[in-house]
Amino acid sequence: MVELRSDTFTLPTESMRKAMAIAEVGDDVWDEDPTIHRLQDRAAEMVGMEASLFVPSGTMGNLCALLSHARAGDEVIVEIDSHIFQNEVAGAAVVGGLQLRPLDSESGRLQPEQVLGAIREPDIHEPRSALLCLENTHNRKGGTCLSPNQTAALCAVAHQAGLKVHLDGARVFNAAVAQRVDVRELTAPVDSVMFCLSKGLSAPVGSMLAGSVDFIERARRMRKMVGGGMRQAGVLAAAGLCALTEMVDRLTEDHANARRLAEGLQGLSGINVDIGRVETNMVFGECRPPVTARHFIDRCRTVGVLLDQASAYRWRMVTHRGVTSEDVDYAVGAIRRLFVEPSTAALRATG
Ligand SMILES: *Cc1c(COP(=O)(O)O)cnc(C)c1O
Repeated sequence: MVELRSDTFTLPTESMRKAMAIAEVGDDVWDEDPTIHRLQDRAAEMVGMEASLFVPSGTMGNLCALLSHARAGDEVIVEIDSHIFQNEVAGAAVVGGLQLRPLDSESGRLQPEQVLGAIREPDIHEPRSALLCLENTHNRKGGTCLSPNQTAALCAVAHQAGLKVHLDGARVFNAAVAQRVDVRELTAPVDSVMFCLSKGLSAPVGSMLAGSVDFIERARRMRKMVGGGMRQAGVLAAAGLCALTEMVDRLTEDHANARRLAEGLQGLSGINVDIGRVETNMVFGECRPPVTARHFIDRCRTVGVLLDQASAYRWRMVTHRGVTSEDVDYAVGAIRRLFVEPSTAALRATG
């Protein structure tokens, strides 16, 4: 099977398994796990922040960030297809009493003027604008990147009006590698950043939340509140350290494979590939009615290619360490054959 559903399917490396086996551990709720300390120090340094916190998931990292930056009744500006707005079970509203204010954008890149227009003046009738959330890379808009300049311009507008900025950087290392910039150029202007160890970086579990010492102190309390205080989690942090030291540079391979995949699938009569948005490790595309994404995905599964549904007609493929360029060539060939075989006439007839 060629696993293109998500980079979360990456398995821990040999070196992670070894590091996990010998990791020095302690009770991290008591802040006494030396391996977690090493991971948190390393992560903070890599993204240029004072401190960081190991959290069980990206979703929890984002929630802790929102809870630490804003209070019940505040408004948080987000992009309409952001993970925080679409895929985090309304945690900000349920747990934090926060109101999310979604803004649409062309390719996941909010415009500074648009954010400025959404920031509220103090008024007894209105919620307080407290926080702006950015997403880099932007998942549902295609794995697209914000540049250092775009990030800085958005932060300037928010900071000028007294808002904090949180970056959902689940795949911020993909963004850095793709643009050939130090990740700090993408994180320096924001007040906090979350990134995942468990996606393209291949660790089995965990994400990091980074920011100022004060912010991380609040986030640590919030993590405990939402049930994310872990004990001898140094066994997991050990894998996270390998992820940060050994897995970042190789993301370029995933990006090259995504491009190869997108180019290979171009020109088929039944599907459109969003080739213009292939900037990192994701390829999105659309089926032409009446063929639905579900139908296409089911057909692909029969030839050993797994992909994910994005909406009724949209689908997503994600490259990662578990997908080689040979796998990509196989997937392209298998999918192209689907469009010419008589048994799959429905796919073909839609062209
Ligand atoms: C995956 C993802 C998250 C959440 O991470 P989990 O570890 O799956 O909870 C947050 N934001 C973005 C953009 C993501 O892609």
